[in-house]
Amino acid sequence: MSTARKINVFGLSLKGMEDLMVAHGEKPFRGRQLFQWIYQKESTDFTQMSNFNKELRDLLDAKHDVRLPEVVRKQRDPEDTTAKYLVKFSDGAMVEMVLIPVRERLALCMSSQVGCSIGCKFCATGLVGFKRNLSAGEMIGQFMLARNLTGDKELANVVMMGLGEPLLNLENVVEAIRTISSEQGLGFSARKFTISTVGLVNEIRKLTEMRLKSGLALSLHAPIQSLRERLIPSAKDNPLDKLIPACREYALQSGDRITLEYILIAGITDTMLCAKELALLTRKIPCKINLIPYNPIVDPKGVPLAPIKEVKKGRVAAMRGTTARTSDGPKPYSPYDFRTPSQDAIDQFREYLYPRCPAVTLRTPKGRRIAAACGQLVAQVEKAAG
Ligand code: SAH
Ligand code: SF4
Repeated sequence: MSTARKINVFGLSLKGMEDLMVAHGEKPFRGRQLFQWIYQKESTDFTQMSNFNKELRDLLDAKHDVRLPEVVRKQRDPEDTTAKYLVKFSDGAMVEMVLIPVRERLALCMSSQVGCSIGCKFCATGLVGFKRNLSAGEMIGQFMLARNLTGDKELANVVMMGLGEPLLNLENVVEAIRTISSEQGLGFSARKFTISTVGLVNEIRKLTEMRLKSGLALSLHAPIQSLRERLIPSAKDNPLDKLIPACREYALQSGDRITLEYILIAGITDTMLCAKELALLTRKIPCKINLIPYNPIVDPKGVPLAPIKEVKKGRVAAMRGTTARTSDGPKPYSPYDFRTPSQDAIDQFREYLYPRCPAVTLRTPKGRRIAAACGQLVAQVEKAAG
């Protein structure tokens, strides 16, 4: 049988592998053995799986294969050694994965979707639009690729902050985390994961019910509802007065504080009014704050760092803020309105928060020279390609 017709077993959960073995007339424990071969021993060759008899090895080899995604491009920031990888799946879809140095160890930033349907005005992925969800296997594949790329450094933690909105691909994200954290699989604790979300109330509630122990990061970006609506299209249907209590419930369930991600955009989110409102909001929820200086997604001439073809197909209007209505009336922002604040403005904002809020960190703009804000590598490669 040709490789193209074989069914890929990489990415199946433990249950999926047990079911597969039962379908081949075997006992379920054979599925657990296969799971260990693939995720613990990283074997891709059925013929080497020594605790299966020859008949089973040949059957698996004839009907299945073990296909990991592949790295097709790498960019390394010469100054801070952040490395960004373009990862390609079997259907040709591509996502980004970033390895970020954190003292002696590395943090992995992985993608959950190809593109994103939310369309935040400051985000390169939003400009590209949505293509498809990643399967659990495609997320596990990023993790395994990353683990093999770390060299002698340890992988400290994983953040779901690459392309996509993880909570719009909730089942697959949770299955990937459960498989990676399983003792029979990769044994990498679910607590070392952080799921970053734009803030979807119903999905956060579902995640709470799933009793996952991973961290949750809320991309807050604005502490005032009307301002948030001008930056994030989904904010109107997920108002702060519902979103914050939903995140609070998640924090209580997981036993860990929520990280509030906050992009500082000059004159828009870095104002003293925002600093005051943000400080007030932090009293309602166990949290820490991560301030992120805006990373430009259009070049100084206003040309988007995104695939030109696709931007022309209707996204220019969205970028210029002529689409969604907000409850207060003012138009949504567009990337043309955004600038990175001066260092003084960033310091002032942080200094106001520092004594008033539980924990405030400023994300150093690592990987800036390789366009490490989400979505930018895919955008550039696609742009170069056509
Ligand atoms: N969809 C999820 C996760 C992916 S975005 C979410 O929105 O949280 C990952 C992080 O990158 C988010 O906090 C997002 O706000 C941030 N980000 C996106 N574009 C950015 C930019 N141009 N500059 C700085 N941070 C950006
Ligand atoms: Fe999607 Fe997150 Fe980018 Fe918004 S910031 S468009 S939710 S990936």
